[in-house]
Amino acid sequence: MLRRDLEREVVGRRVKEAEVRPGSNAMKIIRHHGRRKDFQGLLTGARIDRAGRIGTHLVLELDNGHALVIHPGPAGQVLKTSASDGINPHTHVVIGFTIGGQLRYIDPQKSGEVYVLPLDELKTVGCNGAIDPFESPLTWQRFSLLLSQREQRLKDLFMDESFICGLGDIYTDEILWAAGLRHGHLSNKLSSQDVRRLYRGLSETLQDALKARGTSSAGGHIWVDLQGVAGTYQLELKVYERAGEPCRRCRHLVVREKIDGGYAYFCPQCQA
Ligand SMILES: [Zn+2]
Repeated sequence: MLRRDLEREVVGRRVKEAEVRPGSNAMKIIRHHGRRKDFQGLLTGARIDRAGRIGTHLVLELDNGHALVIHPGPAGQVLKTSASDGINPHTHVVIGFTIGGQLRYIDPQKSGEVYVLPLDELKTVGCNGAIDPFESPLTWQRFSLLLSQREQRLKDLFMDESFICGLGDIYTDEILWAAGLRHGHLSNKLSSQDVRRLYRGLSETLQDALKARGTSSAGGHIWVDLQGVAGTYQLELKVYERAGEPCRRCRHLVVREKIDGGYAYFCPQCQA
């Protein structure tokens, strides 16, 4: 959905100027480049030929042998705006086009990245063979095979970008709730019924998230925070950060449990 938005909004446009906003935060966002000038120089005058996605990375191919890559952090957004729109204080990069309009990268947490690299280095970007849940059609049989080849707890596995990319903490907890499974099950010990539930939970959760994102795309905004909670989806969260609140399915209280590297939220009644 997002790639199509970008295609319509920016493909064919030529970059008039690229601005990296003042301050060290913007330098963190363009950390692939040592200096603002290096980043800006690779963009100025270039035309955007193609818009694509590699995992959670947005890739805009340029006519100068390079590509602009945007990897939004959990709170990052890419907005298509007009030049006269007010600048949000968390804006780090502004790319202006010759025929007007701007693409802006906004990120209050400063955890995303924006960089330009030669086209032949694109293979180093993104999922690198892992499941791309937003892109590739994945059959449940293949999903089942991939699960059986790992021996990881479900939450760890879904957070592991060498297995599936771009899910993160929030979607992982939501998917496990939708599947009715707890975070600690080992991936290679699941019954075929569990695998089917997990597969269905994965597709349903991501579809709902994309739908909610669609709702928020009004007003010319393009939301790309695939790893975070976009649009109205945050209003629909079932377990994530809802400890002590009633489960939306069974009214039992949602629990937060400390696990390696963070927390897992789940409903002890619905998730076995
Ligand atoms: Zn429940």
